[in-house]
Amino acid sequence: MAEDNAAEGLALDEFAPRVRGPILTPGTPEYETARHGWNARFDRRPGGIVQCLGVADVMATVDFAREEGLPLAVRGGGHDFAGYSTIEGGLLLDLSPMKGIQVDPSARVASVQPGVLGGELDHETQAFGLATTSGTVSTVGVAGYTLGGGTGYLARKHGLAVDNFIGADVVTADGALVRANENENPDLFWALRGGGGNFGVVTSFQRQLHPVGPEVMAGQVVYPLDQARDVLSFYRSYMETAPEEATVYPFFLRLPPIDAIPEELHGEPGLIMVMVHVGPVETGQSELQPLLEVGDPVLPAVQPMPYLAAQQMFDAGMPKGNRRLSRAQYVDQISDAAIDTVVEWAGRLEGPFTAAYFEPMGGAINRVAPGDTAFPHRDKAYSFHLVADWTDPSADEAITEWAQGFHEAIADYASGGVYVNLMSEDEGDRTAQAFQENYPRLARIKARYDPGNLFNRNQNVGPR
Ligand SMILES: Cc1cc2nc3c(=O)[nH]c(=O)nc-3n(C[C@H](O)[C@H](O)[C@H](O)COP(=O)(O)OP(=O)(O)OC[C@H]3O[C@@H](n4cnc5c(N)ncnc54)[C@H](O)[C@@H]3O)c2cc1C
Repeated sequence: MAEDNAAEGLALDEFAPRVRGPILTPGTPEYETARHGWNARFDRRPGGIVQCLGVADVMATVDFAREEGLPLAVRGGGHDFAGYSTIEGGLLLDLSPMKGIQVDPSARVASVQPGVLGGELDHETQAFGLATTSGTVSTVGVAGYTLGGGTGYLARKHGLAVDNFIGADVVTADGALVRANENENPDLFWALRGGGGNFGVVTSFQRQLHPVGPEVMAGQVVYPLDQARDVLSFYRSYMETAPEEATVYPFFLRLPPIDAIPEELHGEPGLIMVMVHVGPVETGQSELQPLLEVGDPVLPAVQPMPYLAAQQMFDAGMPKGNRRLSRAQYVDQISDAAIDTVVEWAGRLEGPFTAAYFEPMGGAINRVAPGDTAFPHRDKAYSFHLVADWTDPSADEAITEWAQGFHEAIADYASGGVYVNLMSEDEGDRTAQAFQENYPRLARIKARYDPGNLFNRNQNVGPR
């Protein structure tokens, strides 16, 4: 059987004394759990999973993979939509045991190891009334998220994760540990801020923190789909002048079977306006109020809540282990025609847990120039993201075709470009769109730090 052979020829017994952490192989009890990432579509069997406990383990694993010419995958939080943090055969460098977080409240800086998840970082920083930009699902890894850009409820006010990424320790392809920041290896540092996992294994992220909460105004307002056109056109005008503290996602999905939603709407496509205001609660109350007066919602549930709870609002709907396909693109404005298209496709959502949403950009995100970091999409108004989500493998083909159809329908309103962290494995031809005018510089930096393209399981920038 393939699983029995996965570790063949890897010389893992000879390698084992070089690392402190365990090496899991097919047959070791923890292997089955450890090989899976968030997305069940990628059911792969690495030859060996090296569970790194520290920088020395990372250096040794990188050396071993390079010396032996082994295919190498790197995993932080394991949420990659493209499945690059797992591998068939070869070596998986698993950073998930590296969970250290050090918060310096007076300097407002956190040093974060690469196995840390967004919710874990929030937990540590909120103890001091601080936070940094994190994803909207608390189980997303800080590592992959930060290296690609990093949007979230704090981004319009305080910038993307990359804008708050002020230094890194990196193990490069030659197995050396280097520091990257504005003064040391500044080119590498630039590339790490949006260029993904192409340039080395980051073993420590220094992140800038900001005062947030501990309570914020946040919640959800739920509408049946027949009100979606009116709600979205109000949303469009609200966002034109919205305060930077307010981030609002119109979220289309099949409404969940909960008591608070009328039974006849259970399982029907609907619209949930998810909103978080990261300023003082009273300001949030008044600045979100206009959104609460739109239409006739079946469930208005916006209230003061801990920032930590706001950061977990999506968690229950995004469990590990379903099959997912991601399609994303930027749109400049939500035109009437775009609204009609979205509502029409949302009425036929395929996959029981599928969701489609607009994510607003603007504010601090757009105050940074496209070439200042490797993340180039600084002039965009919205990202439109479709996550098809299902469990039955026999539905793969039909759902993929439907998702591609929805994606192409929205392409009529797209402004070009795609956020690298939302790309799927079958979209390699969009890599240039992800990096845009920063691509040539990224390729030159890649040639310097990883000329042999050891780190190639990512939206890959070839060395040039
Ligand atoms: C449920 C869900 C919600 C999300 N919400 C948001 C959101 O709100 N905002 C947003 O911006 N994005 C969001 N994303 C996308 C997210 O940013 C990416 O999936 C990201 O890659 C996840 O990081 P990870 O560490 O969990 O992933 P992994 O799968 O571990 O890694 C992703 C990529 O990064 C590389 N990598 C990981 N760690 C390192 C490291 N230490 N050094 C070098 N390379 C490394 C991997 O090799 C892989 O190519 C979401 C994704 C999911 C699944």
